[in-house]
Amino acid sequence: MILVVGGAGYIGSHVNKALSAHGHETVVLDNLVYGHREFVKWGTFTLADLADIDSLRLVFKRYNIEAVMHFAAYAYVGESVLDPQKYYLNNLRNTLNLLQVMAEADVKHLVFSSTCATYGIPIKIPIDESHPQAPINPYGRSKLMVEHVLDDYSRAYGLKYVSLRYFNAAGADPDGDIGEQHNPETHLIPLVLNTILNKCSSVTIFGIDYDTPDGTCIRDYIHVTDLANAHLLALEYLRNGGRSGAFNLGNGNGFSVNAVIEKAVMITGEKIKVEIAGRREGDPPILVGSAEKAKAVLGWTPQYPDLEDILDTAWQWHKTASTK
Ligand code: UDP
Repeated sequence: MILVVGGAGYIGSHVNKALSAHGHETVVLDNLVYGHREFVKWGTFTLADLADIDSLRLVFKRYNIEAVMHFAAYAYVGESVLDPQKYYLNNLRNTLNLLQVMAEADVKHLVFSSTCATYGIPIKIPIDESHPQAPINPYGRSKLMVEHVLDDYSRAYGLKYVSLRYFNAAGADPDGDIGEQHNPETHLIPLVLNTILNKCSSVTIFGIDYDTPDGTCIRDYIHVTDLANAHLLALEYLRNGGRSGAFNLGNGNGFSVNAVIEKAVMITGEKIKVEIAGRREGDPPILVGSAEKAKAVLGWTPQYPDLEDILDTAWQWHKTASTK
């Protein structure tokens, strides 16, 4: 069985679906602090917290776990600046607990959710895996610390891991089973769509004075289903004896905040009220990744590389979710 830690969250639930669709048996472990029980529509669900190492041990005793996918983390950049301890305890210490119990149970394969936030302010675009990692916020640092831990553990204890450095996860399951739903919502695309659905009065652009063509931040948006498929390939890669390491997952195309808003207006056919505010702390001006390594080594090909498709699946999901 595959243990999907944080499988009730946005990316984890999409990976759980993809694993099940490919015939893998899954156990989803989640503390439901930010996860949604109703997103766990496949496999077995177990309510547990990584902070509680004894209950974690019980999960590994109860199920025959061969590999772990680890999504459970706090991921609010701004909050990580204000309350770094919360991030180091959950993202770092609790991951150490998970690794400890994996080692006790002799489980060797791990796919870890890392992030482009580990790179900090890029010195070269597109960012490839050899780009220096100098995160500018505690969230990014907590993820980078785990990457270092994984590297050390792989040398010392024979752990085999893949760290997947996501660029901006976006979109929703094309079948409409699951989608993006954070509380609080801080991400650009859901906020824009919620504004269109009148759940928010306006969308705020954080900073129009960046050194980019239109002054707003540029990001590389990658469909959540494409992320999910990369996890399956990473698992297969580890099972085939692939070398531990990190892989970027992005489309290699950057879109400014303004461009995302314009495309959302075009796709939905609705108008939107936009306000301008100062920069949000911890935001690099531009993040665009090269995923050539994942394509060459894992055989990954994004199925939804266009921002239109990403926005359209998100829009379908938000429309349905808003009527529930
Ligand atoms: N952003 C914005 N207004 C919002 C939310 C986000 O202008 O209400 C900007 C944010 O500064 C960043 C981009 O949109 O440049 C993507 O932010 P998001 O929070 O979606 O993802 P992140 O890049 O932080 O992972």
